[in-house]
Amino acid sequence: MKFELNFRNNRGTDQELLGDMNRVASKLGVTKLVSREYDENGKFSSKQIEKRFGSWNKALVKAGLEITVMSNIPKKELFENLEEVWVKLGRQPGHREMKRPLSKYSERGYVNTFGSWRKALEAFVEYMNTDVEELPAIEPTPEAVKETEAVYKHKTKREPSLRLKVQVLMRDGNKCRLCGVTVTGDNIHFDHIKPWSKGGETTLENLQVLCEEHNLGKGDLEYT
Ligand SMILES: [Zn+2]
Repeated sequence: MKFELNFRNNRGTDQELLGDMNRVASKLGVTKLVSREYDENGKFSSKQIEKRFGSWNKALVKAGLEITVMSNIPKKELFENLEEVWVKLGRQPGHREMKRPLSKYSERGYVNTFGSWRKALEAFVEYMNTDVEELPAIEPTPEAVKETEAVYKHKTKREPSLRLKVQVLMRDGNKCRLCGVTVTGDNIHFDHIKPWSKGGETTLENLQVLCEEHNLGKGDLEYT
């Protein structure tokens, strides 16, 4: 009997290597496959795959699998991105809409962190419902106050934060409160019900969604 090293099973075409990575990923039910898990379950070795494609991540991209790095996006960033998308659309985004250029992160980025798109939205709503201290407003200088009596000392900043905008949209929907027209993107105006110039604050209670026409028409008036 002659002993031989058998390399036959270790070779494979590019397609076979990539196909086996996909097989292991679906067997494990993961969208991101780490090399250690592959070595425990794969027909080939991760070293061999790395050698063939240049790196493990390059092989993942070729195989159409998520790059491991994607799962390390901080939750805060995922929430802030969702705020941006929400305000651009004026409403709750669908998972299929989570694509560039609208969204910086794909649905996968959320699924990897939260488990599912639904869970990501639930975590987001919870985040929206927790009180976060708004940044302190810049106090007007005493000189500015002296110049005119109409200068109010606001407790808030004039421009609502993204977070506050989302909260207003969650409450009002993306419809003008005066005419009911649906607004998206730049056509969404966040109006101070009691005008900022009359001391109205930037708070959920004092903000409403208006269309451009009604926002421009309003000026310093107070609609009820
Ligand atoms: Zn309107």
